[in-house]
Amino acid sequence: MKDLHDDFGQAGRLAAGFTQTLFSQLESLPALPRVKPGEALGRLGTEIPEEGQPLEQILSDFQRHILPGMTVWNHPGFMAYFNTTASPASLLAEMLITSTNSNCMNWLSCPAGAELEELATGWLRQLLGLPEHLWGIIFEGASLSSFHAMAAAREKALGPAFREKGWQPGQAPMRAYTTAHAHSSIAKALMALGVGRENIIYIPVDEAFRMQPEALKEQLRQDLGAGFLPLCVTATLGATSCTAMDPVSEIADICAAFGVWLHIDAAHAGPVAMLESRRPLFNGWQRADSITVNPHKWMFLSIDTSVLFLRERHHLREAFSLTPDYLKTAYDEQVTNYYDYGLTLGRRFKALKLWANIRYFGRRGYQRIIGRHLEMAQRLRARLEKEPGFEMLAPTPLSTLCFRYVPPGQTHSPGAIDALNEKLLEAINRTGKVFLTPTRLNGRFTIRLVIASLWVEEEHLERAWEAIRGCAGEGMEG
Ligand SMILES: *Cc1c(COP(=O)(O)O)cnc(C)c1O
Repeated sequence: MKDLHDDFGQAGRLAAGFTQTLFSQLESLPALPRVKPGEALGRLGTEIPEEGQPLEQILSDFQRHILPGMTVWNHPGFMAYFNTTASPASLLAEMLITSTNSNCMNWLSCPAGAELEELATGWLRQLLGLPEHLWGIIFEGASLSSFHAMAAAREKALGPAFREKGWQPGQAPMRAYTTAHAHSSIAKALMALGVGRENIIYIPVDEAFRMQPEALKEQLRQDLGAGFLPLCVTATLGATSCTAMDPVSEIADICAAFGVWLHIDAAHAGPVAMLESRRPLFNGWQRADSITVNPHKWMFLSIDTSVLFLRERHHLREAFSLTPDYLKTAYDEQVTNYYDYGLTLGRRFKALKLWANIRYFGRRGYQRIIGRHLEMAQRLRARLEKEPGFEMLAPTPLSTLCFRYVPPGQTHSPGAIDALNEKLLEAINRTGKVFLTPTRLNGRFTIRLVIASLWVEEEHLERAWEAIRGCAGEGMEG
């Protein structure tokens, strides 16, 4: 029989030792593993163990066979997707969450969990300059935050009739509004909520990929005339492709005039509002009905922490509250039972990560790091603009650069330029020094570089720039 006390002690030491070596070796690892599909586990054994095995052996197999097949999100050259890098405070909090392992489903199941969720989301709201009437709840990711926001919008629009009876013949078809640059999770949520993909209306964007408010207004006018029920408008602050910032102030005016729910997806960009100088970019977001912000991106929490802010939380509660006898407690009238506000019952103590990180960085720490990222992006953009052959394909309101390479002095078909950039991206990623991902803007293959990692310094950008320029120069002319 294993001794649990010994094993817990050893697990902590092994994990701490591994973490220390990992971070001292980060830069010697390739940012993207060089493995083919089906090969990511190396020669890892596939037999189910009949008897339990020692922790050292588990760690050793992880290091030898699993780690080499992992993409290194903590690598300073990781400039793909939107970064999520875990801070030391996240590591500490994760260890505490696992060693205590409380299930934060209702107040009684972890009283401090419920109260810290209130405190930590309140801190986040204040850091972002958001008003007091916005109440926060933590979900696993932005996709779930936005899903719950739209479920609340549906509850508000359709009331108990829809919840109790489901869709009724003669009911006005629902419609939802966003742009083609919204994250795919918005359409997924609307599909799951019964709106139907054909009823998601993509409002045209301007040259900076921002929603055109006049077009939204016109569409709402037409749809109301035609008997549709407008459910919600989703504006994005920091769209996934190019961090476009929808003009939320004008959109909020329109939503107010038409009485339509305004949801704002600021999963990646939200924390930028901690910088007073950048707050004008967010003007109007305080008037939203709901806002999604992911602390697990630009606030360096380990993955699975997204916050949804709601103006009228009771709609979400009405949409999901269902309390079986075995969950009733004597405190239900006095406390917030978070499971009442969503699909899942079991909830990790993620509020601890949010609280611990805000303690660790402080307002100024976040302002310094994020501010530096924004400046680094402008400097790199200036270099790209000066370099012959490189073209910027979108503005850079934050720290995501969208560009491509068109060999100077030659003419190419649009298809050939796309193909060339696809090859260029592969070559850049093969260097292992940097990992970038693509998107398409106006139909054109676009290389995307994001500066939002806890580890990225000037020297890593220098290295990335050399890799990009070097690969473009090598054999890309033909
Ligand atoms: C990252 C992101 C999402 C998806 O977030 P998950 O937490 O992975 O579900 C949605 N919207 C935007 C704008 C994002 O940046």
